[in-house]
Amino acid sequence: MRLLVVEDEPKVASFIKKGLEAENYAVDVAADGEDGLHLGATEDYDLILLDILLPKLNGYEVLKGLRERGLRTPVIMLTARSALDDRVKGLDLGADDYLVKPFAFEELVARVRALLRRRSATASPILHVGPLVLDPVAHRVTAHGHALDLTAKEYALLEYLLRNEGVVCTRAMIAQHVWDINFDTYTNLIDVFINHLRKKLQPHGCERMIQTVRGVGYVLAAT
Ligand code: CA
Repeated sequence: MRLLVVEDEPKVASFIKKGLEAENYAVDVAADGEDGLHLGATEDYDLILLDILLPKLNGYEVLKGLRERGLRTPVIMLTARSALDDRVKGLDLGADDYLVKPFAFEELVARVRALLRRRSATASPILHVGPLVLDPVAHRVTAHGHALDLTAKEYALLEYLLRNEGVVCTRAMIAQHVWDINFDTYTNLIDVFINHLRKKLQPHGCERMIQTVRGVGYVLAAT
């Protein structure tokens, strides 16, 4: 899952970025509204955290600009203001949720999770594909009920593939969403991690669920 944080206060931005990265999200930061609108409109994010008081363009203008461009990316407004008018304005402009500063990091993470879950249109946060079950709250994956011992990156990669069940994920998509990089040269890295995942799925007979689409990328499907 790849997130954009639009926040002009470096300390707050770095606190949010580090915290979310510890939760296995890939995070980009934009330090002003113009940069936020540009990144939000041109890059592919799963969710945007948007401050209201920003240089160049304020959060409302950024949100308006994104929605006018037809972008439906979920947005959580971060605001130091708690006035009802401000919250209503954000929601009217198409924000999905808001958080009043200062907030507890746990609450931010819970709201991010809830919004990503709502977006994937399932009532339950648990992802099921064939014998694989991923619990994003517990950070746990099981195959036929047996827990898999995954590293943080293997987990993030498998989660991305599971969320895109049946969809061919290009190496560029995987790099952006799981590694937070745009790249040509890291292709081998993804292949290496796919091999690790297959090896860990093999004892459970699930290694064929990750299929290679030659020259393109990978697709995960129930076999
Ligand atoms: Ca600010």
